[in-house]
Order: sequence, then structure tokens, then C-alpha cells
Amino acid sequence: MLLGAPGAGKGTQAELISEKYRITHISTGDILREAVRQGTELGRRAESYMSKGELVPDEVVIGIVAERIQQPDCANGFLLDGFPRTVAQAEALDKALTERGLGLDAVVNLEVDEAEVVRRLSGRRVCGQCAAIYSSADVGQSPQTCESCGGALITRSDDQPEAVQRRLQVYRQQTEPLVEYYSRAGILERIPAAGTVDEVFATVSESLDRVKARSIG
Ligand code: AMP
Repeated sequence: MLLGAPGAGKGTQAELISEKYRITHISTGDILREAVRQGTELGRRAESYMSKGELVPDEVVIGIVAERIQQPDCANGFLLDGFPRTVAQAEALDKALTERGLGLDAVVNLEVDEAEVVRRLSGRRVCGQCAAIYSSADVGQSPQTCESCGGALITRSDDQPEAVQRRLQVYRQQTEPLVEYYSRAGILERIPAAGTVDEVFATVSESLDRVKARSIG
């Protein structure tokens, strides 16, 4: 599981981790944004919270994840990105995993200071079609279309300054307590995440390789 403030790099690192370790990437943010894009009932309900930087109610996201982890592509493991975000979600996840004889192997906490996340979020663009993430440095060098699918690059509505401030506040109040929660459970991997994507991924990989070796040995 990946933990960290908005803008810490969860989505970017999740893509790399899921590719290297061949595990399914589950992003509740991506699932919710897709529902909004398709105009489903879930999307309509979620949108009002998301655009303001608020959390979607626990029971909604818990239901989504409980169903998602039962899909066949999760049989060999999965990576949760953006879930859990509250202690209630973490407790519900523990229960759902225990019921299936599963458990979390590691919680990777991407640590980065607030000035840096504000800087990253204000420059971030995403592909409106495939959800690929582009930093301000990427966007500066390339045209405003996605390199992998050609879709238009957009600014997420919740990357607007007001929503960013609210998301950081929500993170501090509701999500940061999970650092202590998983530290107590003995599965927290602390990763300094202010460096480049490659530098951070090298540290994440070392840490996950250690976790893997421990679980095999
Ligand atoms: P993310 O892409 O992870 O930054 O999520 C974008 C937005 O989706 C969040 O600001 C929330 O409004 C909503 N969201 C995503 N995951 C969760 C979650 N686990 N619990 C509640 N809301 C969520």
C-alpha cells in the first residue's frame, strides 16, 4: 500500500511498482475520476466531494475496494494507492483482508514537505483519457498531449489552489494518523520522496526487495 500527502508521488510510483513487481494497481482516485467521466451514479455522488478536495464518504470507497480486490487480476497481489485514507477505512481493510486470509506486506510512506507538494500539484497535468501523470517539467518540454495515448492534458479540478489547501488539511487531519497506525503494526517503510522519480523509485525498490526477501525467508 502507498501512503503519502497529495502530490507526494503515489500515482507515479504506483505505476512503476506495479510494472516491476507485476501486481495490479488499484487507485481509488482513478476509479472515482473514471466514474465521474462516465457520469454514473457513483460519479455524480463523488464529484461534489472531489472537486472541493473533500473525502468521499468511507462506506462508498470501502465498498469499491472490497469489490475490486475480489477480481481475478488481484489474485497474485495488488497495490493500493490512495486507500485507505482514514482510520475507519484502514480498519475496514484489515477486516476484509483477514476474512480472505490475506494481509498487507508493506505500507510505503512517501515523505515530502508541504512546500514541495504544493509546487508539484500546481504544475501537474494529467491525461484526460488514460490518466497518465505529467509534472510541470514534463509539460514544459512536450506538447499538451499525452505521449502514450494522444489524449489532451488537463489540470485536475482538485489541483486548483483552494482545493489543494483543503486536501492538505484533510490529509493532516484524517490520513496522517495512518502513519502511526501502520508503524504500530510494524509494516511501515519510510521513504524520503523529495528527489526525482527515478531516485525515489530506487529507494522504494530497495525497500520492497527487502520486504520480499523477508517474507520468502
Ligand atoms: P487521489 O487521486 O488519490 O488524489 O484522489 C482524488 C480524490 O478522490 C480525493 O481528494 C478524494 O476526494 C477522492 N478519494 C480518493 N480516494 C479516496 C479514499 N480512499 N477515501 C475518500 N475519498 C477518496
